[in-house]
Order: sequence, then structure tokens, then C-alpha cells
Amino acid sequence: MLDKWIKLSAVNTKHLSAKRQRQILVCDQLGIFAFFTPFPYQFFFIFYDLAYFSEMFVINWMFMATYAAVLLLNRRGEYGAARNLLMLCVSTHMLVSSLMSGAGVGVNLFFFTQASVLVFLFPTLRWIGLIACQLACGALYLGTQLLLTAEVAIAPVPYPWVDAMYVCSASGALLLMVVLLNMFRRQIENTEKELLKTSQLLQVRSSTDPLTGLANRRALDEALRAEWLRLARHPGTLSVIMCDVDHFKVYNDYFGHDGGDECLRQIAGAIKEALERPSDLAVRYGGEEFAVVLPATDEQGARYVGEKINEAVRRLTIPNPRAKEGIVTVSIGVSSSTCFSSTHFDQSGERLLRCADQALYLAKKNGRDQTVYMGCHSLACRVP
Ligand code: GH3
Ligand code: MG
Ligand code: MG
Repeated sequence: MLDKWIKLSAVNTKHLSAKRQRQILVCDQLGIFAFFTPFPYQFFFIFYDLAYFSEMFVINWMFMATYAAVLLLNRRGEYGAARNLLMLCVSTHMLVSSLMSGAGVGVNLFFFTQASVLVFLFPTLRWIGLIACQLACGALYLGTQLLLTAEVAIAPVPYPWVDAMYVCSASGALLLMVVLLNMFRRQIENTEKELLKTSQLLQVRSSTDPLTGLANRRALDEALRAEWLRLARHPGTLSVIMCDVDHFKVYNDYFGHDGGDECLRQIAGAIKEALERPSDLAVRYGGEEFAVVLPATDEQGARYVGEKINEAVRRLTIPNPRAKEGIVTVSIGVSSSTCFSSTHFDQSGERLLRCADQALYLAKKNGRDQTVYMGCHSLACRVP
């Protein structure tokens, strides 16, 4: 409900800085609250003795008109003027009310509420300025409380109504503080949510290849590093696949760069579909080269996945008129490493990729469109 009210009453300030937005929001909410606060007092004056309280009755209406002007100024973009007018008006209203009805009615308690939101209303004010303003509010409260007693008041509120009004004022001051603080809490929570969303989005973007949606090189490095660290604790086999599109330069020349991009997207989809385990990671290594990380997969399993990718790409039957086979194919190099303990995981990951690259070179040399395996034993690993 509070959120709906804030949205309803908020001025369109999206183009302004967060500080300024907060200042306008507080000013607006305070203006609305100040406009409605005198109503209970006005009703009391009417029903009790309007002739006796006529001056205060008229004064209240004048101040309420000024609060409405504050809201209007905010909507016209005169944010500074609105804030200054509100501060002046609220302080004067409290002073005049205390002078007319006596400090016993507790209107001066709103000086504390005013002091608590100064930090948002004057976002550029430094510590010294803020402390001075707070002291001024404190002095005004004390001054009114000590000096403007019922004896000196022009039209004091009689007992027991004075106590009822004090309860009303204290409740109002507390309620306003709770509303404003809750409003800030919501703002902080929303900002936190947005920050979390943005950082998650950035994380996904920084590890994703924009063309194919596969993981990128950075994600590959991280995955290899993590896998090697895991292998150092739990012995097992890690396999990688390097995959290169055959005669892609020719394809690109024939269908143009956009056609080439579309072909890469389709191949990426085929590679992804060929992977069965959620732990397998498909990566666009660069240009028309792809890599796949296969955790806990031995030579036999990795060969099987490599051939499955060959088959999946063939099944796409993307025509490549200039290739010997007539369709787009890929060559695949596979390598596995069984590692029991490793301290040089960075070099080990690189070495495994290099082995797969050498296997890929052999696949190209042997006539393309095939999977070739090459074992890899890092110096940092003990072969069983
Ligand atoms: P091979 O069978 O020996 O791999 O032959 P190839 O023509 O595929 O080999 P090469 O590596 O020489 O050619 C790669 C070509 O891939 C070069 C470039 O035209 C194309 N290419 C690289 N990155 C992209 C890309 O992001 N989009 C598109 N459309 N083409 C790319
Ligand atoms: Mg290449
Ligand atoms: Mg190629």
C-alpha cells in the first residue's frame, strides 16, 4: 500500500540523480502530511468553539494553502524553492501554533520529525551545516516548550482537550517518522535488488559469447581451473574437445559474413544438443572454433561425444557448395588427462587444450569431418 501511495504521489524525477530524487520524494511526502495534519485540529475548533479559536482556524487554512503550493512547485520542477518554502512554512506553523494554543498541544514535537529528515532534504549539506540545522530544530523545540506555556498563549486549549491534542501530535510525529523511515527501507531494498540483478546480468554477459550464447574463453579458463582444483582433491579423468569448422573461409566467402554467423549459431546449437551431462561445458573458443570441457569423462566417453558432435553437425545439412562434401562439417580433436595431484593447474589446463589442438590438427590432416584422440599427461600429474 505504501509503495502504491508513493507511486501515486511521486513527481516524475527519473532523469534526476538519486540524491535529488530522495530530496523531492521526502519534500513531497512531508508536504502532503503537513497539508492533512491540521484537519483533526480544525474539526476540534469547529465543534468546540469556532469563535474562540477563529484566528488559529484561519491561520491553519493559510498554512495548508502554502503546503499545497509546495506540492505544486515540486510538480513544476521548482524543487529547491519547494523544499525551502516547506521548511520555512513548517517551522513558522509550529511556532505560530505554539504561540496561539500553547506548547501543551505538542505541535512543536514535529520539530524532531523535521530534524530527522533534514539529511535527505538537504543532500548537499555537510556535517557542520547538518549539525547546525539539527541544533536549530532542538533550540526551537526547547524555546517553544519553555517559553510558550498556556499562560502566555493567545487562545490556549483548555484541559483535558490539551492532553488529547498532545497525544494526537505525538502520535502524528511518530507516525510520520515511521512512514518516512519505512519508505527509505523500501528504497534501499529495491536498490539492493536492482544491484543484485545487474551484477548477475554482468556476470552472465562477461562469461557468454554474444553470437552463439555459448560460454566464452574466460568461462573456459575458469572451468578448467575449477576442474583441475577438483581433480587435485578427487582423482579422476578430465577430457576436452577442440572443434573447428571445415572450409569455413570458403563458406564465408560464398554466403557472406552474416550467413557465416548464422551457420556458427546453428553449429553451436548442435554442439549443445550433443552434450548429455549438465556438467559438460560448450564454449566458443574464438572465430569458428569451439571447445568442450567434459569433467569426469575418459577417452572412450570423450571420443563418443566428439563423434556425436560430428554427426550432429552433419545432420544439420547446411550446404557448403565449395566444400568437397557439399555440406558443412567439423573436425574434432579430443584429449584426456588423468590427474591425481596438481599444483600447476593453469599450465595443466593449457596443456590439455594444446593436446586437443594437436589432435584437431591431425583430424584436419586426415581428411576433416572426423574425431581424432590424443592422450595428454601433464608433468604435474602422476599417470596411474
Ligand atoms: P579449415 O578446414 O582448415 O579449418 O579451413 P577454414 O577455411 O575453416 O580455416 P580458417 O581457419 O583459415 O578460416 C577461418 C575463417 O572463419 C576465417 C573467417 O573468414 C571465418 N570466421 C572467423 N570468425 C568468424 C566469425 O565470427 N563470423 C564469421 N562469419 N566468420 C568467421
Ligand atoms: Mg580455424
Ligand atoms: Mg576452419
